[in-house]
Amino acid sequence: MRVHVIGAGPVGLLLTALLQSMDGFSVHLYEKRREYTRTRMVQLAPYLMADSVESYRADDIDGDSVEAIFDPAELEQGLAFRQSIPADLSTLLQGWTHGFCPLNSIEQSLSALIDGRGHGVERTEAVVTAEDAIALLEPGEVLIDSTGSRSLLRDHLVPGPSAVEEGANTVTVRLEYALVITFLYGQPYDCNESCKYYKNIENAHYKFIPMVHRTHYDGNVSHVTGIVNISAEEFEAMPSRSDGEWLRSNFPAVAQSMDRFIEKVKEETHGEILGDLEVVRIPLDLYRARNATNRQWLAEARSEHPLSTSAVFLAGDSAIGSPYFQSISLGLECVMFLAGLIAQRDLPLREMLDRYELYIYKQWLRVYMRSKMIKHNKDLFESVDNPVALLEKLHIY
Ligand SMILES: Cc1cc2nc3c(=O)[nH]c(=O)nc-3n(C[C@H](O)[C@H](O)[C@H](O)COP(=O)(O)OP(=O)(O)OC[C@H]3O[C@@H](n4cnc5c(N)ncnc54)[C@H](O)[C@@H]3O)c2cc1C
Repeated sequence: MRVHVIGAGPVGLLLTALLQSMDGFSVHLYEKRREYTRTRMVQLAPYLMADSVESYRADDIDGDSVEAIFDPAELEQGLAFRQSIPADLSTLLQGWTHGFCPLNSIEQSLSALIDGRGHGVERTEAVVTAEDAIALLEPGEVLIDSTGSRSLLRDHLVPGPSAVEEGANTVTVRLEYALVITFLYGQPYDCNESCKYYKNIENAHYKFIPMVHRTHYDGNVSHVTGIVNISAEEFEAMPSRSDGEWLRSNFPAVAQSMDRFIEKVKEETHGEILGDLEVVRIPLDLYRARNATNRQWLAEARSEHPLSTSAVFLAGDSAIGSPYFQSISLGLECVMFLAGLIAQRDLPLREMLDRYELYIYKQWLRVYMRSKMIKHNKDLFESVDNPVALLEKLHIY
């Protein structure tokens, strides 16, 4: 079976590596970037490589949601698939779930693994357009769009007479605007909810909130990533990337809160910041594709169109995007499911598409509830010393 994977970010690469290790697939991987140079650090959720339902559900925030949303048999199937991942790949995945690691290493290692295996994958370096992608498809072939948040085909998955309407196939919930501030610290440092509270006690506004599990002690260096909530106006007035010096000159109140937090970390652990602060401003959006496959095209049976005679799946940030550092794990888990589905060669096409849609919807429910809970907790935290403001945010029936 010929499978086209468009976009060789972490999700497209993992899917390619999974299909490459299965019999009977010829994978064509397309990527526009010439080399991997991203600088951000990410952490993969431990549930990705869980070996039991209990460890899969160990997450404090969504353990119960997992039980409510997924059937036990589904969870067991997911775990069985993980066990079947070849050792070269599962060793990499295991390593990435132990702490912070550079996204660049994930992409380079997966890419090198695919090339090193030396069979079953053809690679093309090119910017693929939506028209190119659709034209590639021969009847019966599979195409996976893993081109990230600005998905190539998301808007093309719903048939219609008129021109493609941008965003028509996307549900978006904007949770907040934030600065993501990352730095290296020359001592071991970790942070729980008490630490977040006491280190922010003088910060009435712009509380600096390091993410749970967002610090990773790596030899003598801790990687610290925190979020500071900002207004829509402040977001508009900032460049997409800046550093500590720029922030201190242009948004001193935000910088003071951050610096107060860092000073308290230093008092406690007697270390120093290594290098500069990296500041990225992002809207924290939660979104999903209403249709993560081309099943509506198949239902219309317009036999002349390539989208009516083949299977198209959105994967990773193409299908679902979420803030609070969950997205990459979600994308990688979804392609584990997708690879398992495509491997069932006797599964009728419609059923394959329906099962993927249902799975993506369940993952959406899970990440939607988790993200809303995190946002709610963050809102309460902002008002924790002001009982009136706090009570206004509580809805107790
Ligand atoms: C500042 C920041 C920090 C983050 N930190 C975390 C974190 O800690 N934890 C976490 O889980 N997530 C984090 N994320 C999100 C995470 O990086 C994404 O969820 C993840 O990269 C999505 O992987 P993907 O493969 O689906 O898409 P992408 O990584 O976006 O990859 C898409 C690939 O497709 C290629 N492509 C796109 N269009 C075309 C085209 N037309 N033709 C050919 N190729 C194309 C791109 O070049 C790219 O290689 C962070 C994001 C940001 C911005």
